[in-house]
Amino acid sequence: MNRRALVLVIAGILLLPSATSTRAQSPRSQVASGRRYARLVVRNATVIDGNGTPASGPKDIVIEGNTITAVVGIDPVSLARGDARRPPGDIEIDATGKYVAPGLINAHGHVQEERGGIPQPLDYELKMWLACGITTVRDVGSDTRKTLQLRESSREGSVAAPRLFVYARFMAPTAPQTADAARARVQELKALGADGIKLTGIDRDLMAAMEDEAHKAGLRIAHHTGVEETNAWDDIKFGTTSIEHWYGIPDAAIEGKIQNFPARYNYNNETDRFRYAGRLWREAKPELLAKVLDGMAAAGVAWVPTLDIYEASRDLQRARTQPWFAEYLHPTLEEYFRPNPANHGSYFSGWTSTDEAFWKENYRIWMAALVDFERRGGLIGAGDDAGFIYQMYGFGLLRELELHQEAGFHPIKVMQHATGNNARILGAEGRLGRVRAGYAADLIVINGNPLEDLKVLYPTGTEEVRDGKLVRGGGIEWTIKDGIPYHGPTLVTEIAEIVAKARAERAAARKSGVTGRQ
Ligand SMILES: [Zn+2]
Repeated sequence: MNRRALVLVIAGILLLPSATSTRAQSPRSQVASGRRYARLVVRNATVIDGNGTPASGPKDIVIEGNTITAVVGIDPVSLARGDARRPPGDIEIDATGKYVAPGLINAHGHVQEERGGIPQPLDYELKMWLACGITTVRDVGSDTRKTLQLRESSREGSVAAPRLFVYARFMAPTAPQTADAARARVQELKALGADGIKLTGIDRDLMAAMEDEAHKAGLRIAHHTGVEETNAWDDIKFGTTSIEHWYGIPDAAIEGKIQNFPARYNYNNETDRFRYAGRLWREAKPELLAKVLDGMAAAGVAWVPTLDIYEASRDLQRARTQPWFAEYLHPTLEEYFRPNPANHGSYFSGWTSTDEAFWKENYRIWMAALVDFERRGGLIGAGDDAGFIYQMYGFGLLRELELHQEAGFHPIKVMQHATGNNARILGAEGRLGRVRAGYAADLIVINGNPLEDLKVLYPTGTEEVRDGKLVRGGGIEWTIKDGIPYHGPTLVTEIAEIVAKARAERAAARKSGVTGRQ
């Protein structure tokens, strides 16, 4: 085990003895990163639950093994008097002055061990997810067999990783061509042990057969509709669990049924595809769009918008100069992000101010539609689709939360999107996404109040003025997944080491004259 994984952290014993009263003997007070305890108590937390209710505290949260067994409100009067009843713990984390929320769920992630054919250490992504407070990932397309193994290792606790729900790609490696073949593919994925299906562009008759078979097999469906024969009305009719990104929604609200593409448009040219995607929302007719959103809400079709992944389209310079690139951008990812028609999503050669202006308008209409959707009873989740288009794993989800706030959602709702709502999309709302007795012990202990500033969630933290001095603050101190606490700053140091080592290796290879893609 890495020396840093054993870093011990003082849990504030002088301020917060536990046992049964504040005067009792304090228990062992140092928590090791990466090991599960029989009885761990997170003390004095201000809790943001995942169900959209206001923050409340102080509370002691009791974790036994991998389950939250009690959330105890502390009476502030007795606390001040020194005789408050506190639940005992073998070991504790002091959350005085900190906020505790359910672990974040990333509803649109991809397990990636390579970019553009160049290997990238899996640990890099897994640690970034944990450091950014992500305790669950809905993987929507990766190497299914490998990711199913990773799901088991994560379940056993033998690897530091979020819990995984594996949604296997339906159209890869080959797309089924008949209804019978579509049904057979569903059964094949069920037999493999997938939790759900990731669907991309598909013809209507095949979609009908595949969704019918998936419902019978108990598999949920995440649909990335392309600009295709099907649109959101098909998702409504056939019972898709969630629409990914946004394609298919404005398309279903265009009066002439087809976007006004220029004559030379070619969908397989990614610059074309993303350029004119930026001119799609403006063509949606508001009255028709309202009907689509009502239809989705009534049919229980959720929406995972991944606002973060298109942000380069509206502000390329911002996307290319994110501050965490300096220390934490793996060279493999850096290379992949460069404009290159061979890599999906790396379409920015010749990107113009006109493209950005259209995309800014696109975002305004899209964000308003999201707010409208929730108002109409729709379920909104949060996912980042990182590993593409200048978005780093985990950091992308935190940016996604900021964009939900920009859309007009209250930060309490924003936190709900990434916790309780995502748990509902997974069908795991009885076990995940809440700070509640009986739920999985998936929690984050945050240095600061994300309801005031979502940026406190970033591992790089924030700058704060304290006693007239500028100091670093913020960051997630502990990510507790399935009862196992991981120390945020330790993870961040390890990520920086992985990146520094990879950069040094590439520099050495260049020096020794090894050519090829660096
Ligand atoms: Zn994706």
